[in-house]
Amino acid sequence: MRQPLVAGNWKMNGSSESNRKLLEELVSGLETKAEVLVCPPAVYAQQVRDQLAGSVVKTGLQNVSDKSSGAFTGETSPLMVKDLGIEYVIIGHSERRTLFGETDEDVAAKFNALVDQGIVPILCVGETLEEREAGDTMSVVASQIEVVLRAAGPERLANFVIAYEPVWAIGTGLTATPEQAQEVHAEIRKLLAKDNADMAAKTRILYGGSMKAANAAELIALPDVDGGLVGGASLVAEEFKAICHAA
Ligand code: 13P
Repeated sequence: MRQPLVAGNWKMNGSSESNRKLLEELVSGLETKAEVLVCPPAVYAQQVRDQLAGSVVKTGLQNVSDKSSGAFTGETSPLMVKDLGIEYVIIGHSERRTLFGETDEDVAAKFNALVDQGIVPILCVGETLEEREAGDTMSVVASQIEVVLRAAGPERLANFVIAYEPVWAIGTGLTATPEQAQEVHAEIRKLLAKDNADMAAKTRILYGGSMKAANAAELIALPDVDGGLVGGASLVAEEFKAICHAA
């Protein structure tokens, strides 16, 4: 019942020319039952959206402000995202949390601001290696999610996506094992079900962290893994396409 979602997070990579080529190769011969999304740097959102018009691939963003407009130098408003017709925005990525000091409360404010504009948040959560080794994986992930759920309230939880991205797997070439991924994804779904069983059953939970063509099929086939949030491999058309085909 949950359509898989494969989302590419380009992070701070690309140029007008490399984007154009990457998308051209990606859409050519792409056939998948997954919903496919690419999230370029904000400055390229319009270029990417325009090039993808008429294809099945959608455009998303990597971050957003919780404010609507005004004196917030360098920020992107949810109203602007909506104006471009963009449906999905990643929030709470571990790089935003660790390098830019975003707190769970900041992430919750962004979640609400997106939902209030009809945009679907992709909420990233995940533990560091230290936290995993201390046996704290689930308490860390649960608290990252619970802050958002509580701030949102039941009326804002009709349509959102969670991405479980263990920090130790991001950009390291180390992927969670299928057992590790399934265990955390199932716990996340249980946590959502405490709030609302229907919402838990329909909410997509993506895996992210060194997902590539070689491991995607096995991960996405797991009962509680509903797709992937792909970093490095989303910059290589053939790799990303293979992930979409595996979904
Ligand atoms: P990699 O796929 O490069 O490990 O990055 C994952 C990620 O952070 C996606 O948001």
